[in-house]
Amino acid sequence: MTAARDACSNRVVAEAARHQEFRALPSVDELLRDGPISALLERFPRTLVVAAAREILSELRVAIAENRSEEARRRQERLAQQVADRVQAAVRPSLQPVINAAGVVLHTNLGRAPLSAAALEAIRETAGCYSNLEYDLETGSRGKRDVHAGGLLERLCGAPGVVVNNNAAALFLVLHELATDGEVIVSRGELIEIGDGFRIPDIMARSGARLREVGTTNRTRIEDYRNAITPQTRVLLRVHHSNFRIVGFTGRPALEEMVQLAQQAGLPLVEDLGSGCLLDLRPYGLEDEPMVQESLAAGVDLVTFSGDKLLGGPQAGIVVGKKEWIARIRRNPLFRALRVDKLTYAALAATLRDYLVENRTGIPILAMIEQTAEQIRTRAARLLELLQGIRGELVKGSSVVGGGSTPAMDLPTTVLALSPPKGLSATICEQRLRAGPAPVIARVEKERVLLDLRTVLPEQEKTLAEMVKLAWKAGS
Ligand SMILES: *Cc1c(COP(=O)(O)O)cnc(C)c1O
Repeated sequence: MTAARDACSNRVVAEAARHQEFRALPSVDELLRDGPISALLERFPRTLVVAAAREILSELRVAIAENRSEEARRRQERLAQQVADRVQAAVRPSLQPVINAAGVVLHTNLGRAPLSAAALEAIRETAGCYSNLEYDLETGSRGKRDVHAGGLLERLCGAPGVVVNNNAAALFLVLHELATDGEVIVSRGELIEIGDGFRIPDIMARSGARLREVGTTNRTRIEDYRNAITPQTRVLLRVHHSNFRIVGFTGRPALEEMVQLAQQAGLPLVEDLGSGCLLDLRPYGLEDEPMVQESLAAGVDLVTFSGDKLLGGPQAGIVVGKKEWIARIRRNPLFRALRVDKLTYAALAATLRDYLVENRTGIPILAMIEQTAEQIRTRAARLLELLQGIRGELVKGSSVVGGGSTPAMDLPTTVLALSPPKGLSATICEQRLRAGPAPVIARVEKERVLLDLRTVLPEQEKTLAEMVKLAWKAGS
């Protein structure tokens, strides 16, 4: 009986304390009259500061209501500072540069290909003013935005092309135009998911095409395709294996066999190449990466690929191929919905011009791929020198191309393996690198932080050194 009464009175006491805490909170108006906050009002719009103050106060009320009184008390002591921080956070850019020291050249989460100097210049020159995006300067009448990339694509690939928002959109549009209410034959071994839920079968379903899967996961023969052709068949589809590889007892028909079958059956052969390589990268160890020109020369009707993978340009999806198919795709109403803006055309055309004049080192990701382990060693040694006393070692390692291209296709590199300072773990150092003023993405292996300079732009090296020194400073 007394225990129950005690519990009851404890509750009453706690309730009273909480009530007291609520009452101690200032009102928004009182908070705004606070010295530091009224200073904030001179630099930022009142609505922004009021919203931040309301947010902080309401978070505090929740903390009190949920009995997190210790936290509430701590936060209440620095109320003005929290409002100021919240206002600063609201006006700070969310998208910010990071230093990619992870050695993954095409990292989808890090924005894939960094743009070339020429692409950036093209954006700077044309995006801040009016342009002839859809205006024919010769005739003084409406033009087509396609022309800004179309001519370049035709010169480089030997076939006309169109540009949409990304490769997923390109594939969707092609299937929507060619295969709605019909069947698309595709090998089971090519029904891939490319990260973040992009699944070939889902795209096809939304385009209105029906999937006709043939073969098995590891082996598909040309007869499998041939036997699956019916009057409902609209397209033969081939998809680049991308980010996975089946090893061992595998096989799929040669491209030539597929071309022959498509021609015999009077069907278009569509190939989703994923990365869309325009250069022969075999000398750099990228064995498996088929070139767009090769596929077209072999007789593929339509090829789709990304603008921001191995091409090294902005996010875009490119379709190149036979003139009549391209013309049909161009007329599809969804083309309008998937079209790209002037920034993309400016950057893409500049990137393609670099290919045309064979300025391969002008394209950052090609320059990265071309670096040898020896060249990277020199850079890593220079970085270690800048680190003044931080313990590190140059070790052999491998970078990856990534971006859904050439899996398991490693590039030999030299990594700088840094030991954490006394009292800190490698994991903590890695976290600090990420949280710094210039975030650095690094890898941790065997209690060391690995930095691969292949993917660090030369102009970022000094900043990288500063960030490492900052992260290694004990206690900070
Ligand atoms: C990456 C990839 C895609 C998706 O390209 P996005 O440009 O990201 O839409 C589609 N197919 C293949 C084979 C890919 O590798």
